[in-house]
Amino acid sequence: MNEGSAHAVWRPGDTVVIRYLTRDGKPGMSWPASVVEDHPDVLALFIPEGATYKLWGQVTPPGGGPPVRGLVDGAWRRDTLRLMFPGRHHSVWLSWDRTPGGRAFHGYYINMEEPYRRSLVGVDTNDHALDIVVAPDLSWTWKDADELDRRAETGTYYPEFVARVHEEGRRAVADLEARVYPYTGEWVDWMPDQTWAAPSLPAGWDQAPPVVWPERLAAYRDMNPIR
Ligand SMILES: [Mg+2]
Repeated sequence: MNEGSAHAVWRPGDTVVIRYLTRDGKPGMSWPASVVEDHPDVLALFIPEGATYKLWGQVTPPGGGPPVRGLVDGAWRRDTLRLMFPGRHHSVWLSWDRTPGGRAFHGYYINMEEPYRRSLVGVDTNDHALDIVVAPDLSWTWKDADELDRRAETGTYYPEFVARVHEEGRRAVADLEARVYPYTGEWVDWMPDQTWAAPSLPAGWDQAPPVVWPERLAAYRDMNPIR
């Protein structure tokens, strides 16, 4: 049961948190984002350049001692609009570079990931390694296909799941090549509302109950007790 499903639709300018849950269901890499649109068929979220987000790095344990893997602060690299679609195993990002004269469209990025679920603070998902990098002229290249394959070889993912992620990528490419939404260009000139405050991670962002992906045990081999 999706614990966040009873929550009202978000309004433009609301701050939400995009959390990648680790395969064992804990908040990992996470971003604050401003809600652009929350419609039944698309959830559009904006992460501005410079937003403080969480990524994996090395942290000193509270009791001291050698650094261990943990979440550290980073400054987000580029204005990014993340289009997330209910039930879909990828999101589509548009990003822009800030330039002296304004900004320039950097391109699309198609990110294979768990279909998002609503949490008490935003949305929960997790990355599935494979990406597609799309230039403004819609030429494209695979990214990290080898990393996805490695996850089958090392027993992180089930091979059948790796095949499904590749298939999802091919579906996304078919959409891109057919120039269907969201590759129609209608988001390219979108601008964030200048009155929005820069989003930041709210207190307790990592305490809200994780809303795990129901299919994870059939996908993540290393998390399955009966593998
Ligand atoms: Mg990715």
